[in-house]
Amino acid sequence: MLIEQVPQCIRRFFQPVIWRGNAKEKKIFLTFDDGPTPEITPWILDLLDMYNVKATFFCIGNNVEKYPDLFLEIQQRGHQVGNHAYTHKRGMFTDTKIFFEDIARAQKLINSDLFRPPHGHITPRQIKKLKHTFKIVLWDVITRDYDATLPPEIILQNVKKYSRNGSIIVFHDSLKAEKNLRYALPKSLAFWKEKGYECSLIHPTITTSSDKNR
Ligand SMILES: [Zn+2]
Repeated sequence: MLIEQVPQCIRRFFQPVIWRGNAKEKKIFLTFDDGPTPEITPWILDLLDMYNVKATFFCIGNNVEKYPDLFLEIQQRGHQVGNHAYTHKRGMFTDTKIFFEDIARAQKLINSDLFRPPHGHITPRQIKKLKHTFKIVLWDVITRDYDATLPPEIILQNVKKYSRNGSIIVFHDSLKAEKNLRYALPKSLAFWKEKGYECSLIHPTITTSSDKNR
């Protein structure tokens, strides 16, 4: 499916973006975008602790500035953080200079070598420049938890249908995803555990040994 799992032919246009870990390893890379969010992040952190799972949080700079203690707590509890721009600008529809300024503003707060473009919208030219500073991380599976019009069962179904070796999975640490997240995340963690997947941090664990795995 085009939305939940982008086909290989499209992924090739966006190299060296990371889409997926090594297809030979039974690992899942769990990621949360758009936080920190006081109503959601502590619940996610407690749940991850219950499953002894570490994840990567692509944070919005503006939220980090508003909730610095929560941002710190994410890291203190063993998780990783990545830059998701300061105001969640779409690179493809934003002047490149303004886009880069937004990322730089977030970087002063987040200080990570990982970057995920908001909405996945980024141009090849922007990738070419940013790849010197960041590992640019997109995803293998987008759960669509952000779409509150979807029933939460569909989100879980997406996880079960599309998870595979090396999958980078996207959930959202945000209010718009709350209903779907609270239903689907605990069940997804139970599902991966049952299937024998190890949830890993993107950096430095991830390996993309061949282009086929991106
Ligand atoms: Zn986002």
